[in-house]
Amino acid sequence: MPYVIAEPCIGVKDTACVDACPVDAIHPRGDEPGFGAESQLYIHPEDCICCGACVPVCPAAAIFPAEDLTASWSQRNADWYQR
Ligand code: SF4
Ligand code: SF4
Repeated sequence: MPYVIAEPCIGVKDTACVDACPVDAIHPRGDEPGFGAESQLYIHPEDCICCGACVPVCPAAAIFPAEDLTASWSQRNADWYQR
């Protein structure tokens, strides 16, 4: 199962995880349209290779394996890519 970004990202959104991800699975990046309007970042559920590299760089401890969170957080991350 992929990794998922949860509530602690809200209000932090510093994009440290974006730079750590080897497969560009975390969006929106700071240079993408809509970045300013988003309350948090989201992990693409199929692009994520579950390497865990984003976890230790997150200052808010906001990133978890999907199985450690309620399904609503996985849904929230996945839904962002369906817009
Ligand atoms: S677990 Fe790895 S592949 Fe998945 S979002 Fe984090 S850094 Fe990217
Ligand atoms: S590193 Fe953590 S707080 Fe920063 S954008 Fe990524 S998930 Fe959000």
